[in-house]
Amino acid sequence: MLDTIKLKYFQGKQYIKDIKNAPMRSQFRGFPIIKGNGNIDLECCPTGALSNNPVSIDLGKCTLCGNCKCEAIQFDNYYKLGSTSRDFLVIKEGMTSEEYEKAAIQTKKEITKVFSKSLKLRQVSAAGCNGCEMELNACSNCNFDMGRFGIDFVASPRHADGIVITGPISENMAWALEDCYKSTPDPKIVILAGACAISGGVFQKSSKLNREFLEKYPIDLYIPGCPIHPLTFINAVLKYISK
Ligand code: SF4
Ligand code: SF4
Repeated sequence: MLDTIKLKYFQGKQYIKDIKNAPMRSQFRGFPIIKGNGNIDLECCPTGALSNNPVSIDLGKCTLCGNCKCEAIQFDNYYKLGSTSRDFLVIKEGMTSEEYEKAAIQTKKEITKVFSKSLKLRQVSAAGCNGCEMELNACSNCNFDMGRFGIDFVASPRHADGIVITGPISENMAWALEDCYKSTPDPKIVILAGACAISGGVFQKSSKLNREFLEKYPIDLYIPGCPIHPLTFINAVLKYISK
């Protein structure tokens, strides 16, 4: 017993105490800052996330690869990129991360009432590369410790309050995804995590995708990244369910 107490003492606190204001390393590529209205070479973007006139970046498609970094486009390390609106993910010139944070996630009374204290999620990897899946796994480790907020991943959709989709949704996974959705009891939420789930990402031109699910069912939360960062995921979900 004494040894265990000693060990705990020497290990100290391993979790990030203030998850809402956790520091991020300066090299992290997060929120895009669009400063000018130059004529950007759209060819440099692997996912068609860039547009000209006006210059904008669609975070739903962006892999944050940094290829487009130039005088007009910079990235800061702001990681709270989640949004309840697909349209809001398109960042235009002059938008600041503070403005984005204020308006990107609009919660609803019925959601906070039911899920603010406990949210169980079923993860569906719909042909993801395993990058987003690994980061979702990290959300529950002793560092990020998402479970302390009552948010956990569960093994069955029957035990879940919502589903988290990663990957571009291949034909082979389309029926399994729909099956999972139908097996999750109401009320439920649907979260798209990562550029692949939101837009198809780097796989968007593949003929082997079947993304009809997204037209059939409402999406509650879009969480950009390639892969998503655990802090991006946890902060978005927390904000969406918090009163
Ligand atoms: S950072 Fe995003 S917008 Fe820029 S080139 Fe890469 S994918 Fe395209
Ligand atoms: S968004 Fe990127 S990391 Fe996530 S599944 Fe797609 S390719 Fe992999």
